[in-house]
Amino acid sequence: MEAWFFENQTGNFGIKIRIKKVLHHEYSSFQEITVYDTFEFGKMLVLDRAVMFTERNEFIYHEMLGLVPLFSHKNPETVLIIGGGDGGVVRECLKNPFVKHIDLVEIDKRVVDISKEFFPGISAGLDDKRVQIIRDDGIEFLKRVKDNDKYDVILIDSTDPVGPAEGLFKRDFYSSAERALKCDGIFSAQTESPFFNKDLIGDINKIIEDIYGESSLYCAMIPVYPGGLWSFTIGSKKYRPQNIHKSYKGLDFASLDLKYYSPEIHTSSFILPNFVKEICKP
Ligand code: SAM
Repeated sequence: MEAWFFENQTGNFGIKIRIKKVLHHEYSSFQEITVYDTFEFGKMLVLDRAVMFTERNEFIYHEMLGLVPLFSHKNPETVLIIGGGDGGVVRECLKNPFVKHIDLVEIDKRVVDISKEFFPGISAGLDDKRVQIIRDDGIEFLKRVKDNDKYDVILIDSTDPVGPAEGLFKRDFYSSAERALKCDGIFSAQTESPFFNKDLIGDINKIIEDIYGESSLYCAMIPVYPGGLWSFTIGSKKYRPQNIHKSYKGLDFASLDLKYYSPEIHTSSFILPNFVKEICKP
């Protein structure tokens, strides 16, 4: 008897993934958490019936959310990641030679625990001495950031804009993130599907442009996400995120164990198909 996981992605469209076994299932204080073993994608983390990542393709999203902002910044010593309790983006950020400290603010401790238990390859960076895991709501955490604790880079690795993550897609949140950034800081967030979330992406683009003076969108293909193409919205008052900063001149990127990101991918990810460019047009 075949067993399948079905993700209803838009109400009218979804994906189904054949599963070998349910490895774990629970309801935390915040969400339903399930770990499946699948035939095609290895182990898979699902939160509230939405695929977060699979072992086979997680590197794409984690490298792109972490490394495009970091390698655009001259020397990103302090990084704040909101969400991302699985540790995938932490693992990638630690590959930047300047990173000295990462605060990971994850609302649900159970995601951290489960990632450590079932996804050691993804959560490996969580035990690095440069990483501090803070169990908190990112919205509340940002309100308490003091002037001398500001960050070089802030990354939002959240679930979709429902439930505890809903407030992570609002203007107030983006404004408080800017206040927690140093004046030459870089902000980047996963901002959903250009195929199915055009209005959301357009709204966020306008907010980030208001705050930073310029907003840029870059994309990557994520096979199991709605529509297969995924967007990231990035803002900075100082750096042009399309360019890798010259402080990385001579860095041997091939030595960083990267399976998707490269200097060529960095710049080309900002070259958008016309239908995506349209979303960000004023
Ligand atoms: N990194 C994965 C990926 O490849 O897409 C998925 C993202 S990660 C699992 C999303 C995390 O955001 C979840 O662990 C969820 O608990 C966390 N989260 C949601 N709302 C939050 C909030 N307000 N503050 C902090 N973390 C939040």
